[in-house]
Amino acid sequence: MQDVVEKVYEQVVARNRGEVEFHQAVHEVLESLGPVIAKHPHYADGALLERIVEPERQIMFRVPWVDDAGQVHVNRGFRIEFNSALGPYKGGLRFHPSVNAGIIKFLGFEQIFKNALTAQGIGGGKGGSDFDPHGRSDAEVMRFCQSFMTELARHIGPSTDVPAGDIGVGGREIGYMFGQYKRLRNSYDAGVLTGKGLAWGGSLVRTEATGYGTVLFAQSMLATKGESLEGKKVLVSGAGNVAIYAIEKAQQLGATPITFSDSSGYVVDEAGVDLELLKQVKEVERGRVADYVERRPGARLVTGGSVWDVPGDVALPCATQNELDGDAANTLLRGGCGVVSEGANMPSTPEAVEAFQKAGILFGPGKAANAGGVATSALEMEQNAGRTRWDFATAEAKLTGIMADIHDSCVAAAEEYGRPGDYVLGANAAGFTRVADVMIAHGIV
Ligand code: NDP
Repeated sequence: MQDVVEKVYEQVVARNRGEVEFHQAVHEVLESLGPVIAKHPHYADGALLERIVEPERQIMFRVPWVDDAGQVHVNRGFRIEFNSALGPYKGGLRFHPSVNAGIIKFLGFEQIFKNALTAQGIGGGKGGSDFDPHGRSDAEVMRFCQSFMTELARHIGPSTDVPAGDIGVGGREIGYMFGQYKRLRNSYDAGVLTGKGLAWGGSLVRTEATGYGTVLFAQSMLATKGESLEGKKVLVSGAGNVAIYAIEKAQQLGATPITFSDSSGYVVDEAGVDLELLKQVKEVERGRVADYVERRPGARLVTGGSVWDVPGDVALPCATQNELDGDAANTLLRGGCGVVSEGANMPSTPEAVEAFQKAGILFGPGKAANAGGVATSALEMEQNAGRTRWDFATAEAKLTGIMADIHDSCVAAAEEYGRPGDYVLGANAAGFTRVADVMIAHGIV
């Protein structure tokens, strides 16, 4: 790492003690910026690097709620409004027991560059709570969401900050939060949240967008080698929104996804995942992966290890951060994996990324490969502002075009800074320069 960026990194570690995921995300971006600063030293002027690693605003709040038995619980809510150079803060809300300030900060930081890559005029933010929706009734989830939004509503708005879903936050949670926001404001501001239901301002393709985009990114990477997904064996982790629609798009493109997982274990289905059954179990019944195996002859449930123990051609990590470590990366490589496209945010540890890059395989980092979700959220905002609704084909064509542009921007930046084929450098350099140019134009703010 260059001296100038090393100093910024040390300051981040000292100022944000114990926030290891945030340190990791900052390190990965700053490490890529060496060649950028060497070529354009003005990006280190005016404390631009020091400003870009410091959130514009961090909100932390109490979320009290009452369960079905009348017991009171207190969770912690977060919204990190990281950077508004390019537009209103935009990024999801995560409800998971592991959520803390460092995790939300890492996600918010990644979001700045991801959103810049989409070229859609959206800034970076992220939020959430350490609330665990698993096993809670609809009424409990509703009371939690209403309490969470009662505070969050003071800080968001269609031109200020526009949250969406993430782990543990899907259509049900967005609905309860939108209902409470509308009640508090006495105003139907559809553009305040994305991921809404189709009957009340949602966009077709938003549900599918992140998973579809991750697979489209893999397809574009393969195309640079004259290959495609046709006939490839695909390993998917996770069984949530991103994983399900990654499986769907991979199947549409002629590949065979054979795995998925949740926190209880992973499933191997050598015949190819039965997507309708998986959707029934996960989306309709909110069940566990074991429920799939019970109804699917030939599929097996494995409760130790990870999906990365299974040999396959393409890996799509779609569960959570740091779910694929150096050992798993080496196992994947030994199993013949030649493509990794990250549906989740920062799912590969630095050791895993290093192993993939050393082996010279195609590696698409999350901030580029999973940007289809936020890109389609921006399309939802566009439809809300124009009080219009596009059909599925129109919205999907726009997503496909945006993913192709993101891929090409990464390729061009990697070439410009002397590391052709390095999508990590390409994504970081292309995203950073777009944000940095606008921060310079806006002066010291
Ligand atoms: P969901 O809540 O729909 O699904 C998450 C899946 O991952 C579940 O199967 C869950 O299993 C599993 N999972 C989560 N945490 C863990 C863990 N600690 N260990 C093992 N399994 C785990 O979330 P999404 O599909 O929306 O999000 C998945 C990833 O994609 C996240 O990294 C998110 O930040 C990223 N992402 C999502 C976008 C979106 O549009 N939704 C956009 C861009 C990125 P279980 O139910 O057992 O916890």
